[in-house]
Amino acid sequence: VPAEAIRVGVSTCLLGQRVRYDGGHKRDDFVADALGRCVDFVPVCPEVDIGLGVPRDPIRLQKTKDGLRLVNVKTGADLTDKMRAYARRKAAQLRALGVDGYVLKKDSPSCGMERVKVHGAGGPPAKNGRGLFARTLMEDMPLLPVEEEGRLQDARLRENFVERVFAHHRLRRFFAGPWRHGDLVRFHTGEKFLVLAHDTEAYAALGRLVARGKALAPGELAEKYQIAYMTALKKIATAQRHTNVLQHMAGYLKNMIASGDKQELAGVIDEYRRGLVPLVVPITLLRHHVRAHRGARPVAYLEGQRYLDPHPKELMLRNRV
Ligand code: SF4
Repeated sequence: VPAEAIRVGVSTCLLGQRVRYDGGHKRDDFVADALGRCVDFVPVCPEVDIGLGVPRDPIRLQKTKDGLRLVNVKTGADLTDKMRAYARRKAAQLRALGVDGYVLKKDSPSCGMERVKVHGAGGPPAKNGRGLFARTLMEDMPLLPVEEEGRLQDARLRENFVERVFAHHRLRRFFAGPWRHGDLVRFHTGEKFLVLAHDTEAYAALGRLVARGKALAPGELAEKYQIAYMTALKKIATAQRHTNVLQHMAGYLKNMIASGDKQELAGVIDEYRRGLVPLVVPITLLRHHVRAHRGARPVAYLEGQRYLDPHPKELMLRNRV
């Protein structure tokens, strides 16, 4: 875990606090327990914050001739402008606080990230909306890793989200301090295999960007790098891509380890490819060999690879087959 705590915004009801319109909560065990042990949550309940109280009348997204509005179901009161202004202020606050991710409550007209019900004049609601708070947050912080608790039940989306949160943190920390082009070259070197596991083209493009980075103004380089990096990580790292990275890394060890060890490593990588063992198995073996040959030249390159250690082991994100 990095020295500085990682802050993640979260819909308050997911932590078990009774802030929902009906006085209940929507505690999510993975979010509240496992993730909560690795990050510092910044709980936000937009509806309570704009003064709606608990319990309160339910609200919903309504399609009107004035566009999409957030309205009180019983009284018809229009809360759109109030929520939008609040969301703008809150997003600025969260940015200043240095949040590196956000977990939203699904289906909520305020917090839902996707497929939120939008009511029209008649007929069943269309499930194609985004909560008004979530929309503003994502517009104002486009590189922020954002997910919903429902989608985090999916192991691949979960690993992807956590990886992006920790990557966002490293990038933010790096660019917040004084840096020179050479520092970015070193930083990027350590991130290479992680990017490669997500997106081969982005890996090549980032390499080119860093190589010609000296010709760019530092602000422009920083912006381009962060956009390209965070966009690359959104692509899910498949078993095929992980296998490529693992084989690539094993290549660096080929003249250093005995032929039996080489065969064992290749075998374990192949077992991972075939879905027989989880990713943690070849990674652990690779780390063992890297540790055993610490300081040797080709191994030095592997030692600094974030891919071998991208997020806390306690989350066990690489332990599934
Ligand atoms: S979904 Fe959002 S607005 Fe609704 S109770 Fe949870 S935190 Fe509050």
